Amino acid sequence: MKLHFLGANRQVTGSRYCLETAGSKIMIDCGLFQEREFLSRNWEPNPIAPSECDAMLLTHAHLDHCGLIPRLVANGFRAPIYCTQPTVDLTEVILRDSAKIQEEDAAYKRKRHEREGRKGKFPEQALYSDADVTQTLPLLKGVRYETLCRVTESVSVVFHDAGHILGSAMLEILVAENGATRRVIFSGDIGQWNKPIIRDPSLFDSADHVVMESTYGDRNHEDLGDVETQLSDVINETIGRGGNVVIPTFAVERAQELMYYISRLVHDNRIPDVKVFLDSPMAVDVTNIFRKYRDYFDQEAWDLVGSNQSPLQFPGLQLARTTAQSQEINNQRKPCIIMATSGMCTGGRIKHHLRRNISRAESTILFVGYQAHGTLGRLISDGKPEVRIHGRNYESKARIARIFGFSGHADRSALLHWIGHFQHAPTSIFLTHGEEVAALSLAEQIRQNKGWTVSVPKFQDVVDLG
Ligand SMILES: [Zn+2]
Repeated sequence: MKLHFLGANRQVTGSRYCLETAGSKIMIDCGLFQEREFLSRNWEPNPIAPSECDAMLLTHAHLDHCGLIPRLVANGFRAPIYCTQPTVDLTEVILRDSAKIQEEDAAYKRKRHEREGRKGKFPEQALYSDADVTQTLPLLKGVRYETLCRVTESVSVVFHDAGHILGSAMLEILVAENGATRRVIFSGDIGQWNKPIIRDPSLFDSADHVVMESTYGDRNHEDLGDVETQLSDVINETIGRGGNVVIPTFAVERAQELMYYISRLVHDNRIPDVKVFLDSPMAVDVTNIFRKYRDYFDQEAWDLVGSNQSPLQFPGLQLARTTAQSQEINNQRKPCIIMATSGMCTGGRIKHHLRRNISRAESTILFVGYQAHGTLGRLISDGKPEVRIHGRNYESKARIARIFGFSGHADRSALLHWIGHFQHAPTSIFLTHGEEVAALSLAEQIRQNKGWTVSVPKFQDVVDLG
């Protein structure tokens, strides 16, 4: 049995592996590379011939785990892709959006390069089209958590809840070879304990080999305080001043977590009676998927459902899917709360709401997620006195607020808790999905704590697992 490391090695995006047994080749995830310096990998042929793969196991629907699948399909991949049922639904939304963005970007680049009379580094075409996504979707097969699923003659898998986003999974892969069965565990992205809506990450006692993420391998989340109290403070102060609360958000998980917290504040009468808008077709679609799969919720969210306080539905909430519904928000005379995508203000409807609110001293722009260097969100969050939106300059007078308690990933001590639950030393532990410094630091800590063998593979390393 061999394991090919084909992405997210000493960096965080482009998760992709191939488990090669005597009789089969199984892909695990096939994500988009998103760091600028690794973008060219998206254009290179899949290191394993797509037509030779017997199956894919998909841990969850984030773009850096599923975003390259349509290209693989366009190049000949025809095997079943196993994942949980919520992942099937979320993947469709995410891949359709990704194809659209890529087609728009390619058209924009073509135009710009034509105008400037030069050629870009990458082809001025989309990595894949919406038609490629349409061809991909029938391959997705929904399976249940905690249920043995036969993949090939010699390989089976059990999906366990990863507690990261709805439907996210850790994979327990069982390989029968040479008269013995070996267990390989892929952690996928490990969620945070005690997050709203979704359950806690699963823990394991034993494995022969472990592949583990290490995003926060070198740091702990700061003591983040109570999200609900911080949120109610921002909302009460802003509404009290007669302004709007504008929240840039990601469409998957973050938007639903925000709705969960706001619904609790509404039900507990901790904020005034105001309209709350979710203005993003994609976030609305994702919210409907959450509502459809509420049997995947954790106990706390279930208790709310049981007491008729659906965590994703409350008085005042309005979902804006169409352009008309979105424009209607502009006619509000009373202060309101507006959540819109994209999370870093790089595109989408949030830009319209920023234009209308950023120069109003009574409004608040509330950031609930990481703002990458160079994004509009980062400029605003850093307090730039003037920002450019849709080609016009705006004075930044609105109050800027931040709440940090929303990370979707386990921090260093939670990662050590997860690996520390194994009762015996796995033969090998491979750390992936983390910047080099984070992965190496976590590896060293595991060696010190446990004396176990840990390695941090490089891109395209192939390890013989015996
Ligand atoms: Zn993820």
